[in-house]
Amino acid sequence: MEAVSTLRRRRILIQGIVQGVGFRPFVYGQAHHYGLRGFVLNDSTGVTIEVEGPVTDLDAFQRALTEKAPPLARIDVLTVEQISLRLDTTFVIAHSQSSSERLALISPDTSTCADCLRELFDPTDRRYRYPFINCTNCGPRFTIVQSVPYDRANTTMSVFPLCPECQAEYDDPLSRRFHAQPNACPVCGPQMQLLARDGSPVTSADPIADTARRLADGQVLAVKGLGGYHLACDACNEEAVGQLRRRKRREARPFALMVPDLETAQQFCTISADEAQLLQSYRRPIVLLEQSSNYPIASSVAPAHNTLGIMLPYAPLHYLLLHAFSHYMGQGHPAALVMTSGNASDEPIAYRDEDTYTRLATIADAFLTHNRTIHMRCDDTVIRVAAQEEQFFRRSRGYAPEPLSLSHECLVPILACGGHLKNTFCLGKGKQAFLSHHIGDLDNLETLISFREGIEHYKDLFGITPQVIAHDLHPEYLATKYALDSDIPCKIGVQHHHAHIASVLAEHGLVGPIIGVAADGTGYGTDGAVWGCEVMIADLQDFQRAAHLAYVPLPGGEQAIRQPWRMTAVYLAQAYGDAFLELDIPFVQQMEQRRWHTLAQMIARSLNTPPTSSLGRLFDAVAVLLGITEIGALPGRENQLYEGQAAIEMEMHAATITSDITSYPFELHVASPAQLDVAPLIRAIVQDIQRGIPASQIAAKFHYAIAQLLAEACIQTSERTQIRSVALSGGVFQNRLLLEQLTLLLEKQGFQVYTNRRVPPNDGGLSLGQLAIAAARTRQA
Ligand SMILES: [Zn+2]
Ligand SMILES: [Zn+2]
Repeated sequence: MEAVSTLRRRRILIQGIVQGVGFRPFVYGQAHHYGLRGFVLNDSTGVTIEVEGPVTDLDAFQRALTEKAPPLARIDVLTVEQISLRLDTTFVIAHSQSSSERLALISPDTSTCADCLRELFDPTDRRYRYPFINCTNCGPRFTIVQSVPYDRANTTMSVFPLCPECQAEYDDPLSRRFHAQPNACPVCGPQMQLLARDGSPVTSADPIADTARRLADGQVLAVKGLGGYHLACDACNEEAVGQLRRRKRREARPFALMVPDLETAQQFCTISADEAQLLQSYRRPIVLLEQSSNYPIASSVAPAHNTLGIMLPYAPLHYLLLHAFSHYMGQGHPAALVMTSGNASDEPIAYRDEDTYTRLATIADAFLTHNRTIHMRCDDTVIRVAAQEEQFFRRSRGYAPEPLSLSHECLVPILACGGHLKNTFCLGKGKQAFLSHHIGDLDNLETLISFREGIEHYKDLFGITPQVIAHDLHPEYLATKYALDSDIPCKIGVQHHHAHIASVLAEHGLVGPIIGVAADGTGYGTDGAVWGCEVMIADLQDFQRAAHLAYVPLPGGEQAIRQPWRMTAVYLAQAYGDAFLELDIPFVQQMEQRRWHTLAQMIARSLNTPPTSSLGRLFDAVAVLLGITEIGALPGRENQLYEGQAAIEMEMHAATITSDITSYPFELHVASPAQLDVAPLIRAIVQDIQRGIPASQIAAKFHYAIAQLLAEACIQTSERTQIRSVALSGGVFQNRLLLEQLTLLLEKQGFQVYTNRRVPPNDGGLSLGQLAIAAARTRQA
């Protein structure tokens, strides 16, 4: 043994994602490797280590902590202090401590690791084909945690006492399952069950194999996963997919698919190296991929789309199910399952068992379920790769509740309530922003409850008691009402599009001023108008509107969003006056003139007709004008089935045109703010229609013209302000064509362009922007 005089003792405190990710066994292993004594324990702030030994060994140990940390661990802060020797004789893993400070981070749910996967298909392993196999490197986390610290007693696994073998693994510091809270085996853990449509149990020796057989026969099954139920069917069976679509009611959105592996996905889609990596990442998002031609997927999986959303299996149950399904389908028939959210149109995803049997009884032929309770609903994440970067459509399972780092501190804890559609909320403390999982559209009671419960859960998990609450300016949003009714005295209202731009600033650690281009469907303006194409000079405190799409009436408000033909008529009337009724184009010929007269009267009397600068509505209007979508002016075919449907379908057509794209004229009227006038553009489009130019070609020209219009507005704003950086955000920037063209135009002009890379550009990212603004305003106050 070393002379006592050469020994030192250090206390090392680590914060970050260090619980439930195998960190203590790792520390234990390293301490033994270097022959050090002391202990490691989890507490509510993270992990505390005390070690003693010779200085050189202590240094090497400390380096190993950061350099060799387990794959799911994330070290945010590591502090070291020298303390008095205690001359311990061993190194031990001590019991967890509770304290009032809760900074320990809960890891997101994580896909099955390679070691567990090997065991899952190993006939000699005691967990062979066990659908709940997991270890400290993988498995459910966020969705089963009820409270902190992250210990089994605080998860929905607490009702499954460990068998002696599982307990031994749980207690063995050198086991991969040491303190793996969801640890289980066929003897002691959760079990699968097959239920009939009415919720009654079906006797089955192998519920997963029976499910696979039913899927192969064309049935629709509800399958309980990590964060909720999926509705599954054979993606190559047109009849089965059509059935699912009919039963889900009014549903036209593309369905996501799950396939066994990358090779299968490559049969349907063109996949870049970046996309392949993302598909295979342990977070397992749905990745939007470009369809290849002649693939065997049913056409009703993604009607009118040239992309497919694909994910790989992430729970052991999925691996087993796809394995069995491939078996039933036989060689040469690709195994692809539709795996769409288990809900009827517009409702949130079902996750509570009893509730699910009622809600999905008219959709699913049977249920593949299990008795491990889901504590928090969590939808799949949806991502696309654009310009070699990730772009989120929805940030949820596999990502939430991992915090985003802020460069600028929240002086007091803040809750930002987010928007109305695709709601997320965000809690901020210090330099961390806990952006919630996807809550959904806050227009029904179920979603509202999930919003309220989610906020309470995050407050508890992360020990945050907000002292400031930030909200949208729209007085009718339920999230706004929640904020205004709350007990938190300090309330900060944030304009919708300012929040979008601030979300980009926060992600990139900027404070501004920056030129912000916020383009989306709907956001409440400071003048009471419906904004949606805003060029602004923004920092984290405030913004100034530099330019916007010239106002047009939005006749019928919500109705004009659902029925885009109204906006087509409005834009034609703006460009031609009443003379538009004489135009010899299909849209005008289809539209019943008396319906326009009703609208014209509403507009003249300003009845439920707010002015709007929404770019989303312009895209809708042009899509219908071109007749590029089935949605038009004919009764029965006038409603969009989901937000942005007409615009998305137009983008899909425009994307097929890749060369010789010209533009359309537009005007920028000098005013404060400047008015972006598209009447010349509408007239030029009408001429092209009259000349018989193909709709795809016109759609491509239209996209390019809008990119030029926005670039021009940025250039003029920059000339006035000398600002050379631009932030792009808002749901319209999910349009890849527009995003890429505008980025290119701006970069050619020497602008530094920033976009959302870690949160969605749509309203799912709004709460982060609200938080950043509220934090800046409290810092200044
Ligand atoms: Zn594992
Ligand atoms: Zn067991």
